[in-house]
Amino acid sequence: MQSVAVLHSTQDDLEGFRQMFHDKVDRWIDEQVAPLFQEGQRPTLRELSEMFQATRSKFLGPGLVELAQRLHAGDLDPDVAQCPGCGKSLPRKRLSTKEVSTLQGKGTLARGYFYCPDCRQGFHPADAALGVAPQRHQFDIQAHAAGLAAEMPFATSAEWFTRLTGIGIGNHFSHETLLAVGKMASLELVTPDQETIERKIAEARGASEDKPILVVTADGANMPLRPRAPRKAKRGEGDYKDAKGFRLFLIGPGDRLLQLASWHQVQDKAGLQEALAFVAQRVPVEQVHIALLADGAPYLWDVLTTCFPTGRPILDYYHCAQHIHAVARIQYGESLLARQWAEAMKTRIWLGKVKGAVHHLRHGVPPRNLKAADEIRKLINYLLANAERINYEVNRQEGYPTGSGGMESAHKAICHTRIKRSGAWWVEESCNEMLRIRCAIYNETFDRVFEHYMATQRPSALRLENK
Ligand SMILES: [Zn+2]
Repeated sequence: MQSVAVLHSTQDDLEGFRQMFHDKVDRWIDEQVAPLFQEGQRPTLRELSEMFQATRSKFLGPGLVELAQRLHAGDLDPDVAQCPGCGKSLPRKRLSTKEVSTLQGKGTLARGYFYCPDCRQGFHPADAALGVAPQRHQFDIQAHAAGLAAEMPFATSAEWFTRLTGIGIGNHFSHETLLAVGKMASLELVTPDQETIERKIAEARGASEDKPILVVTADGANMPLRPRAPRKAKRGEGDYKDAKGFRLFLIGPGDRLLQLASWHQVQDKAGLQEALAFVAQRVPVEQVHIALLADGAPYLWDVLTTCFPTGRPILDYYHCAQHIHAVARIQYGESLLARQWAEAMKTRIWLGKVKGAVHHLRHGVPPRNLKAADEIRKLINYLLANAERINYEVNRQEGYPTGSGGMESAHKAICHTRIKRSGAWWVEESCNEMLRIRCAIYNETFDRVFEHYMATQRPSALRLENK
């Protein structure tokens, strides 16, 4: 039961807010709306929308802060608080103010400030309850700024953010926020949890009697990197390094792809394997048929088969076909014969007749020169090394994929679109932070990553703030 006194003060707070907000709106009407009538203006809807966009923060920003203060009235201004360091009861020193900026505009927050002379630390107990970000721009702004910066260059994202919200942020803020959130985007948070994975497996299965197919693909993509160097200093030569990554997706009813998890980082083979092994733990392997798909790179096959030993290995058909076309061009030039030869070879491969194809390459194709001999030998080695991964006709009949198109599109979406822009060079650490955020967006785990980021930023009652 609430006491009469509490009810009374709640009513006071509501009426106080109403009065304050009405006053602000009245002033806005006097400043922005009254002149339109006085001057007999006839604005279009768009012009009015722009006027609202540019000026609504005058009442919404302070209104939001006023509302927060009145809802938290008791917490913001207590007489006494305990020192989080030593537990001593301390009297309030004063109300201290902080300029905060939210998507609704700016306002000034006033909350109790306490100081412990023994610990020589000051603190604001109300900041934890209000979820105040230490920066001026609050978490609602930060989440959108980071999300936009993950999709387009920092300067462009800051510009569009400002145009769409009326809140001015600079590219530096956009950059810093994205990287700070990216630091918190661990593999554990970026990968969907086991419950989500199981729900998606059930969705992919639908009404079918059989288990759905889980496709696990891995690949590398060149990222333009440069050494870290101070601003304005000569940055040294840039270089390309491989972002190694994987994608897990399910094949649902009607061959629809259901994304499970993507993870790409500039890392070595051991890093890739550790990450994939971690994700594999979250997959209930007995509930799916597993297809492993990659090009011919032996290190990828090592990683895939180590993490998913029961998976069915499938050499990417398109990659294989490219090899065959390359040999055809070198051996027969750009000719009808080259195309016919390549089609015949691809058919043998499609039907899984690797032995026959190798026999034909050894005995039925006299190399026209040394280069052709070299390429033919390479193709033979490639086919022999991947022989057990070439079974396309059977795989197709059983509903398995034959090409890693799903991987290449993930690489394009995650790695290339944002990182590989002309003239853009990345410090390895920042490149990885960006990739982590992009994977989180792709995996639909960005909100979870951002929650974690907020928890690490928020001044908790236990964390002392330096005065
Ligand atoms: Zn203390």
